[in-house]
Amino acid sequence: MTSGTAAKITAKIAILGAGSSGLLLARLLQQTPDYSYQITIFELDPSPTSRNQGGSLDLHPQQGQLALKEAGLWSQFLQHARPEGDVKKIVDGKGDVLFDENGMQKPVEADGIGERPEIDREALRSILLESVAPSTVRWGSKVVAVSPTPGSGDKKHDVALADGTEEIGFDLVIGADGAWSKVRPLLTDVKPYYSGITALEGWAEDVYKKHPWLSEYVGAGSCYMFDENRAVLAQRQGHGGIRVYACVRKPEEWLERESGLDGLEEKAAATKLTDQEFADCGDNTKRVVLESTDKVIPRKLWMLPVGMQWNTRPGLTLLGDAAHLMTPFAGVGVNLALQDSLELARLLIAHPDDPSLAVRHYEQTMFVYSKKFAEKTYAGLQGHFSGDGAAHFAGRLKRGHEAMRMKLDPVA
Ligand SMILES: Cc1cc2nc3c(=O)[nH]c(=O)nc-3n(C[C@H](O)[C@H](O)[C@H](O)COP(=O)(O)OP(=O)(O)OC[C@H]3O[C@@H](n4cnc5c(N)ncnc54)[C@H](O)[C@@H]3O)c2cc1C
Repeated sequence: MTSGTAAKITAKIAILGAGSSGLLLARLLQQTPDYSYQITIFELDPSPTSRNQGGSLDLHPQQGQLALKEAGLWSQFLQHARPEGDVKKIVDGKGDVLFDENGMQKPVEADGIGERPEIDREALRSILLESVAPSTVRWGSKVVAVSPTPGSGDKKHDVALADGTEEIGFDLVIGADGAWSKVRPLLTDVKPYYSGITALEGWAEDVYKKHPWLSEYVGAGSCYMFDENRAVLAQRQGHGGIRVYACVRKPEEWLERESGLDGLEEKAAATKLTDQEFADCGDNTKRVVLESTDKVIPRKLWMLPVGMQWNTRPGLTLLGDAAHLMTPFAGVGVNLALQDSLELARLLIAHPDDPSLAVRHYEQTMFVYSKKFAEKTYAGLQGHFSGDGAAHFAGRLKRGHEAMRMKLDPVA
């Protein structure tokens, strides 16, 4: 646990959401020796352990990894990282394996950590949580509204909580509260919209013992099947589990009105979806879905418009999904969230007496880089859900291997 020695308080900051971006921002600001911000994180979860944090994430060198290094959390990350999980297997609709990195000698650079080591969300949240000053996070504090503090000329804001209480007079309120941010409506009328993709998320637990075939077939990392309007994404987790998304491109109301999945128990839901949507796929792909039914959650995937911007307003900003929610088809969401925190923290530290200036510069920079990744993600969505999606992805991986081999050993 690290905390700075609080000096003169120059600004009172509210962060909504103790997810990756909110916690990292608090950490980065608090680790400066004479930090001058009074930071409160409002988190709706009643406690750190009240909700399963979801699946594994891979951190990219110039985004998530860089942010953790700058936050002084690299050694903690290395203790939990799973570089062996950075392995992909690509299968087409018929079940043919087009490319498989399992068992391949993957060229890695000198640090040995690999390009994109995986870490479980739970581990990442614990690392970040332990790094912030005690009492920074107020658990069980669901924010229902943010509004200008009366008489402040819109420069300060108040935060209203679901329990009817209110915290007043924040110089900066930061929405790090994900898709349905309570800060975003003060900056733009734009809301997330349905991406066209619905997924059945399935979990297989204790796979070495209970699901040895699945464990062997999926391999050490991720196993992806891409095809026209459908995909099956299986990913190994750190605690001996495997998470599978069986995704279909469908209209927004399909899940409730047509799928027939509503109200079915886990195995029945997976069987119905497989029979309806994946019947002509390879047997192994179907088995991946059918074996991952220890827990099953239907989900619609939402996104914000690619390149969304807003006019900067003093005292308010957004980080992570709240700013640029996108589908997971380029695997960049958490990386961008951590990059946002790093950018904003650097600017707040550089301008301790003028958070509004820091926010303006942060937003100008963030709009540019997040648009690039939103475009990549959108292209990923279109590409993966096409008939030649698997062949394209496999080709890209092969070219990546070749390029890395050339870089490490140009004369070979
Ligand atoms: C199915 C799926 C798979 C994904 N896979 C990947 C992947 O492989 N790689 C990757 O990089 N990204 C992935 N992502 C995206 C990634 O999870 C997010 O981009 C990332 O977690 C965003 O971080 P964040 O800090 O913005 O929000 P979050 O980490 O979601 O944190 C938001 C926090 O705000 C809290 N909160 C919400 N509303 C309120 C409120 N009103 N009051 C108080 N607290 C509130 C929430 O409880 C939560 O703790 C995936 C996303 C999905 C949906």
